[in-house]
Amino acid sequence: MMGILRQRFILIKTSIYLCTMMDSFRHQGLRKQLVAQIKEKGITSQAVLDAIGKIPRHLFMDNAFLEFAYQDKAFPIDCEQTISQPYTVAYQTQLLGIQKGDKVLEIGTGSGYQTSVLCEMSARVFTIERHKPLFEATRLRLTEMGYSAKTFYGDGFKGQPSFAPFDKILVTCGAPLIPEQLLAQLKHGGIMVIPVGPLAMQVMTTVLKHPDGSFEVIELEKFRFVPMLEEKAKRSV
Ligand code: SAH
Repeated sequence: MMGILRQRFILIKTSIYLCTMMDSFRHQGLRKQLVAQIKEKGITSQAVLDAIGKIPRHLFMDNAFLEFAYQDKAFPIDCEQTISQPYTVAYQTQLLGIQKGDKVLEIGTGSGYQTSVLCEMSARVFTIERHKPLFEATRLRLTEMGYSAKTFYGDGFKGQPSFAPFDKILVTCGAPLIPEQLLAQLKHGGIMVIPVGPLAMQVMTTVLKHPDGSFEVIELEKFRFVPMLEEKAKRSV
């Protein structure tokens, strides 16, 4: 009797798991609505809209928030961090002007959602996360989903000098300043997109590194990101 009950329990658990992992027609429908919303908010790049329309965002979220995966909002993930709002992901990606094969350094892997958008656009992605549990879970998730981004556990302020220079650098946390070491790892002719400012609010900033090595800084709209903090996190949250 106990054996049958146990088998049933395992069967129910497996079905629930498979349901949440599936990309159902309902998910696809909700995603179409999300794409329409961010288009209305001003995203014009078809390549970005296509990537957002293709990626099952619910697979990047904690179970408690699955129902909300296709709302244009940021939600909590592990280690007191957030999965960025789809509009913000689209906005930053559009600013980067991704071309097929671009070598992109991302600071702040988090859930891996932004990483997957870059991968869908055929970029070669290198991504750094300072929280070990997030780094480990997201590395596994990206591999399982078939994305071949190179993931690193470390401090994004330092970048990845051994893989530099990068065509594009994307910072997905609010930086107190533009890190010198990241500027040095940007290719001549490259672009960096980084939200810069204090905790409460940051200014989306585009840094162009011209072919002669000079920099041009363009400040855009205001956003609010989780902070970019120095060094690896000391303990698991
Ligand atoms: N791109 C992510 C956004 C996650 S929020 C997504 O789509 O889900 C920003 C992430 O930046 C957090 O996971 C945070 O831990 C990380 N972060 C903050 N400071 C960092 C640093 N110095 N180096 C690497 N990652 C950092």
